[in-house]
Amino acid sequence: EVLANQISAGEVIERPASVVKELVENALDAHSRQIDVHVSEAGLKTIQVIDDGDGIAADDVLNAFKRHATSKIHNRKDLFKVHSLGFRGEALPSIASVADVILETSAGLVGQRVHLRGGQVVDQKVSTVRKGTTVTVKDLFFNTPARLKYVKSPATELANISDIVNRLALSHPEVAFSLAHNGHLLFKTAGNGHLQQTIAGVYGVNNAKKMLAVRAENLDFKLHGFISLPELTRSSRRYITVLINGRYIKNFQLNKAIIAGYGSKLMVGRFPVVVLAIDMDPLLVDVNVHPAKQEVRLSKESELGDFIQQTIYQRIAQENL
Ligand code: ADP
Ligand code: MG
Repeated sequence: EVLANQISAGEVIERPASVVKELVENALDAHSRQIDVHVSEAGLKTIQVIDDGDGIAADDVLNAFKRHATSKIHNRKDLFKVHSLGFRGEALPSIASVADVILETSAGLVGQRVHLRGGQVVDQKVSTVRKGTTVTVKDLFFNTPARLKYVKSPATELANISDIVNRLALSHPEVAFSLAHNGHLLFKTAGNGHLQQTIAGVYGVNNAKKMLAVRAENLDFKLHGFISLPELTRSSRRYITVLINGRYIKNFQLNKAIIAGYGSKLMVGRFPVVVLAIDMDPLLVDVNVHPAKQEVRLSKESELGDFIQQTIYQRIAQENL
């Protein structure tokens, strides 16, 4: 069991940022309104995610660490309309198999605190905690030195963590997020549901002011979001966030379409800051491609790309730059 979890950890948990992603997605699935992420030493020392969500009932706490013990899929039908972010029941067991984990949780009644290390329960006790869940992960990869070797410099790992928390915050304007590193606040969002204010929280007020609202729809797709003026660019694609049906996804063709929409307004090697939310028929989206679930396969991908490119091109043209 521990070995199977370590193998699965190899797929799901590649680096500190993967731990952060899985924990924050669990907090989102639990209907949290506030999610605070604290990391130290780029997540190699500690990763802590505090949420005010549903919590886990006392009887279920240990189940959460069992493989494929997801509470989110009840039957085959659910698999075809996965709304929650996690659904494989692999994240917590995988993380616990390669780290030191303390989970404190309460569904409102009695709180529980469990401590696991290398997949084994070290300690479990009743604790009085407010409703919600706090997961603290230490000593990541302590028992899998081969994994540790793949971890990059602290600066790179921290950039990856910021990246994922930024994007999850941008995908959920209704949730108040904060991210702190070594005790310093990196960003926070208000959680008031406004996308532009969320962008201001994540990327700064001045940057948010240099962004244009876009909105367009055709028979297949509905787009809305914000795109930066060509004067606000970055040297990396990290600042392009595409959401499909509310979920942050990675798709090379759609990124390309966004950049193409700027045409010659964009200098070579520069990339815009974009948050683009696309709503489309979920049946056209296959999220089941990779365990980390960020890469998606899309039917009508080229149609969507053309629509995005055209929408951005027209919106920029309206500004008469
Ligand atoms: P999955 O998210 O795929 O179901 P995980 O291993 O990530 O699997 O989590 C296992 C289970 O633990 C979840 O299905 C959920 O019931 C519970 N859980 C994990 N994190 C939280 C949280 N922050 N709040 C409430 N429940 C949680
Ligand atoms: Mg999960």
